[in-house]
Amino acid sequence: MTDFFKKGEIVSVQVTQPIGTALSYKVPSEGCYLGSYVQVTLGQKEVIGVVWGLSTINLEADKIKVILKTLKIKPMTNELMNFLEKVSLYTITPLSSVLRLATRVPNLGSAEVMNKKYSFSSDEIKKLTTSRSKVLNFLKENHNLNFELSEIVKKCGVSPSVIHGLVSLEAISVDYTPKDQEFLSLNPFVKGKLLTDEQTLAVKKIRGAGTCNTILLNGVTGSGKTEVYLECIADCIKENKQALVLLPEIGLTAEFLARVEARFGARPGEWHSGINVTERRRVWKMVSQGKLQLVVGARSALFLPFQTLGLIVVDEEHDHSYKQDDGVLYNARDMAVFRGSLSTARVVLASATPSLESWVNARKGKYFGVNLEWRYGGATLPSITAIDMRSESLSSGKWISPTLLDKIKEKLEKGEQTLLFLNRRGYAPVTICRSCGEQISCNQCDSRMVQHRFVERLICHQCGKTSKIPNKCNSCNSDNTLSVVGPGIERLAEEVTKLFPTARIGVLSSDLFSTPASLRKQLSEIENGNIDIIVGTQLVAKGHNFPKLTLVGVIDADLGLQGADLRAAERTFQLINQVSGRAGRQNKAGETLIQTYDPEHRVIRALLEADLEKFWSLEASDREKAGAPPFGRFAGIILSGANLKNVEDIGKILFNNSTNLRNSGVQIFGPAPAPFSRIKGKYRQRMLVKAEKDFPIQRFLKNWVLTLKSQKGVRIQIDIDPYNFL
Ligand SMILES: [Zn+2]
Ligand SMILES: [Zn+2]
Repeated sequence: MTDFFKKGEIVSVQVTQPIGTALSYKVPSEGCYLGSYVQVTLGQKEVIGVVWGLSTINLEADKIKVILKTLKIKPMTNELMNFLEKVSLYTITPLSSVLRLATRVPNLGSAEVMNKKYSFSSDEIKKLTTSRSKVLNFLKENHNLNFELSEIVKKCGVSPSVIHGLVSLEAISVDYTPKDQEFLSLNPFVKGKLLTDEQTLAVKKIRGAGTCNTILLNGVTGSGKTEVYLECIADCIKENKQALVLLPEIGLTAEFLARVEARFGARPGEWHSGINVTERRRVWKMVSQGKLQLVVGARSALFLPFQTLGLIVVDEEHDHSYKQDDGVLYNARDMAVFRGSLSTARVVLASATPSLESWVNARKGKYFGVNLEWRYGGATLPSITAIDMRSESLSSGKWISPTLLDKIKEKLEKGEQTLLFLNRRGYAPVTICRSCGEQISCNQCDSRMVQHRFVERLICHQCGKTSKIPNKCNSCNSDNTLSVVGPGIERLAEEVTKLFPTARIGVLSSDLFSTPASLRKQLSEIENGNIDIIVGTQLVAKGHNFPKLTLVGVIDADLGLQGADLRAAERTFQLINQVSGRAGRQNKAGETLIQTYDPEHRVIRALLEADLEKFWSLEASDREKAGAPPFGRFAGIILSGANLKNVEDIGKILFNNSTNLRNSGVQIFGPAPAPFSRIKGKYRQRMLVKAEKDFPIQRFLKNWVLTLKSQKGVRIQIDIDPYNFL
């Protein structure tokens, strides 16, 4: 039972404005529930809030404003309120910011949007003009149908005023229907694809997982993890519970939606940045009424107001895009596990290359591990071979080794597809003056401008600033001395075009597609075999199915291994395995060639040996020795501000105030200039906090950092479990 509050009682309301605390309001005449969405005045504004409980503050009753209105929406469940509070505590973010994630839907407070439809009523009117009779005749001919205004305007070639006139004469009647149409039901009893023995066993294991509510579904690329969790979704819908599938990439959604439709006979709800306002409203409302059985979405879908959440699937759970780097710094995978534990929903984390965190949790028995070791339909995993670039002869400005070149030729002759992978957007990462050595940098950031020839601009990948590609050096004024260094995806595509002028080449890089639809089109060209050579960035690594692909060439396998990132090895290992996994999904075997200058590197060796378990064991023992996650806890502190001295000062004060923490065995590194020491004109310094696994890091950080918040124009951000160290 939900608590009901009567007229005149004083409740605390959590609003979505950043004011740091809940406010007290009087309950209006209609009353409200715990979790009711309400409209209240805040200063001059009317804002939306949620009733969070009885007010504990002692205030004179006549000074307290009355809630303007209780919205006609099902109150937020205790489970969701509880979840939002936990996320707020965990990420050290004000509850108001977290609540905003859960109420990001347009016109939540406004009345239902209605659709008007027009139909024939009578033609016994005076002044029957030609336009009027056109309309009436059309409606009369279709007397059992009704039409939208725009349809009639188009069909009859009249202006809207003609129709309005007829409505006022009662010759046409108007029907109002809610604009938010319900979704078609998914039918969980439709028989799915025939599962292999291994898949059937996996489904059985998950069903029998008992009280362990997080499952790590670890299956090699092409093993059919999706089919397995579609069965779990069917189970969930049969129990009349709601299910959620999180995907890392919008580009993947279309493919996935089609599979769901084929399996359950109807489309699920979608939730990501690519859907329009009306659809967003519809999904949010249907979820809150418990009517939507399945939502497929990006990380923010985790904050939707499900009534009876029974299952959360996090597909490609290792993907770093689950970590939000802006606003509330949360990791959707970890928060999904959180929400699952609060709601008794089962959580399935699926991946071919799990994150080390999840792998360790499965090892320790904290998660229930289910493995798929075979590819679907008897396909074999691609073989991986290294090309030692130290013994290849390559002229400058060229990136495809003779060995790889021969292999591509061979595939072209056989009519098979090749994918060349380079994880770098643009044409070239560096533009340098041959005369004075000046490199073109962003004037707002500590980073080089990346040359993009496709759009003919220099782009800063940190702040997004763009400028024209100059023909003169800004520094020494020489003409024609600027040249590019290093490859980007566009430059590689240029090389491929020169080498294979008759081949059909397709480039896949996120910045070449302005809409999800254009990306989808390119993907289906590849699937249908209309492309011979695909040149792609990490966009290709994510779950796409290219049936005609048999060769993957990794242009620079060493690229991700540079830098001091905690997860550099893990990330490179995952990325190359995922890219390699695109090949040989049907009856033809696939092969992957990786170009490297360091074939003895631990990560390269692990890739060649195809021993995933060994890699994770080694990586785990390294992290354990270093006290790094998941064996210890990290938090990043980022200080930024327009004045460098102020940033440094606050950093020093922060460090001096940390005696308490350091005495409790917590290590603090920095403050030091961040690897990107300036972004958008703001100077940046970083600190790294390192603690034992069970240390209550949030409580200490809150006391330590928040006292200094927003002093001297310096912003302090806390990033719990950081993924980004830049
Ligand atoms: Zn910049
Ligand atoms: Zn110069």
